[in-house]
Amino acid sequence: MSGCIFCQIVNGEAPGRIVHRDALVTAFHDRRPISALHLLIVPNEHIASLNELDESQSALAAHLLFTAQRLAAQMGVAEKGYRLVMNTGRDGGQSVAHLHLHLIAGRLAGWHLG
Ligand code: 5GP
Ligand code: ZN
Repeated sequence: MSGCIFCQIVNGEAPGRIVHRDALVTAFHDRRPISALHLLIVPNEHIASLNELDESQSALAAHLLFTAQRLAAQMGVAEKGYRLVMNTGRDGGQSVAHLHLHLIAGRLAGWHLG
């Protein structure tokens, strides 16, 4: 979707420190990390939020989760632990309207994201 920063990163139209890309999802470093490791995992397709995710896309939903699991292992934080967060909507603190999963590890700089 034009004007969507995460679509632009996925499509290579905006810079992003990409750590993983496959047919369904792209993962990159958050530009304002709140901890030692702060990645965002996004569907390549524009989906505004969890509210717009359809149950027919359950394979994509599972892939987001398993990509997080794999990246946590690759980044060496699986043992110590990490947090996955999906902010949804205004009251959920979502500031970018392209569905994304935060993968946060290391000392957390507070609970609030975004
Ligand atoms: P939200 O608040 O929507 O859950 O999270 C959006 C996240 O996207 C924030 O943590 C913010 O720092 C990050 N972000 C916003 N714009 C950009 C950008 O242009 N590049 C990257 N890498 N991260 C971004
Ligand atoms: Zn988008």
